[in-house]
Amino acid sequence: MISNNAEIMEEDLKDKYQLEEEDKASLIEYTHKVLNFISKDTLNEDDKKFITKETVDDFKNFVNPGFLEYRKSVTNGGQYASVEWKDAGLNSFIDVSGKEYIDCLGGFGIYNVGHRNPRVLKAVNAQLKHQALHSQDLLDPLRGILAKLLAEITPGKLQYSFFGNSGTEAVEGAIKLAKIHQKKKGKNYFISTVGAFHGKSLGSLSATSKGMFRKPFMPLVSGFKRVFYGDVDMMYKTVRASSMVGEDIAAIILEPIQGEGGVIVPPHDYFAKVKQICEDFDILLIADEVQTGMGRTGKMFCVEHYGVEPDIMCLAKALGGGIMPIGAVIATEDVFSEFFPNPFIHTTTFGGNPLSCAAAIATINVLLEDNMPERAAKMGTYFISELRKVTRKYKNIVKEVRGMGLMIGIEFENDKTGYKVSKGLFDKGILVAGTLINAKTIRIEPPLTIEKAQCDFVCKALDEVLSNI
Ligand SMILES: *Cc1c(COP(=O)(O)O)cnc(C)c1O
Repeated sequence: MISNNAEIMEEDLKDKYQLEEEDKASLIEYTHKVLNFISKDTLNEDDKKFITKETVDDFKNFVNPGFLEYRKSVTNGGQYASVEWKDAGLNSFIDVSGKEYIDCLGGFGIYNVGHRNPRVLKAVNAQLKHQALHSQDLLDPLRGILAKLLAEITPGKLQYSFFGNSGTEAVEGAIKLAKIHQKKKGKNYFISTVGAFHGKSLGSLSATSKGMFRKPFMPLVSGFKRVFYGDVDMMYKTVRASSMVGEDIAAIILEPIQGEGGVIVPPHDYFAKVKQICEDFDILLIADEVQTGMGRTGKMFCVEHYGVEPDIMCLAKALGGGIMPIGAVIATEDVFSEFFPNPFIHTTTFGGNPLSCAAAIATINVLLEDNMPERAAKMGTYFISELRKVTRKYKNIVKEVRGMGLMIGIEFENDKTGYKVSKGLFDKGILVAGTLINAKTIRIEPPLTIEKAQCDFVCKALDEVLSNI
């Protein structure tokens, strides 16, 4: 009887969920229309209208209408649509209506080698010609080569890499490595900092700090303690107190400069002092260089400024050269060897795929061959000093311009001003990071390929925007 019922249900479901022939045909036609415009180089007026309307409707009905409210609020005249369409050179992109933007947001730090860098694009295209993804069974060569390159360019004894597709996955990997390595010593606790951003999946969210992102999802992974960023004394006391009560710390996770937190540069000796605490208490130091890595701050990795060698490092964002998503967690042999006996203990299907690895290898080539970190240091020094010249005139609303290399923050007296400035710059064709949620400090993280003239253009626009406020 039970099986009879099941059969009847299957019959019902077939009818219920089978697409009607007509609907199927119209969906196929729709996909053709979209595939057609994807393959186009320039759009005609009908295309533009179609894409804009589709995008707005689809975000409303199928993505998340919340994005539209946000976009509407920052777009001139309260229109919804600024629908992006294509890149325009290394440092700019244009929307469907043809408006060009200098990209000072840099995808929150993914475009270090620029938009569609020709050498990264060439490598990915070439790889695509013979293999896109890996078999999942044989040994894939590019994964090994990329891991070797990372071991060479990262500081200290960092040697073995695990690849994922994002920053949050890199952080998950770091947390799991620290846990497995420290468990046998009875150390199960972590310390992260107020203002930290490490990602939004449940493990990394445990290390992330913003209450707004965390509270709805509690309880998170247990064992995370919090200290104020830059406060060595509090770090020491928390480590000591934790060990006195049997809650020994396995690892401390830190961003070398807090990005999402508002470009917070710690005291210069902070990292070295934390590293000393780690050594004294046998704690692992995890450097989350997802945003600060790959040349952004004027060195290949920001910890090089501090002369500190972490036990575990997280990378992502710019690692894929602004073309492919890829993240990596790289650790010393001592730590990573926990994964040797069973390499399947931590895996992900797409991690380390040939296309992403090709992109990352080409990115490292560009960063090294074009001396990008040095370029970021020089251009950053220029840009920061020019921004300071402009903002000095508006001391009543601008608190500070700070940063390292091309990771720059402008802090305002309040959220409202920062928001107005980022909106004003947007209208002038400059994209900066300053959202509704966090606009007190707007972030300027352009491609490291940004030209001096473009920096000057931004400074001039900022002057005009500030004088109107
Ligand atoms: C962006 C970021 C992450 C998260 O990366 P996703 O790819 O968005 O998951 C983690 N850590 C830092 C420091 C970041 O800036």
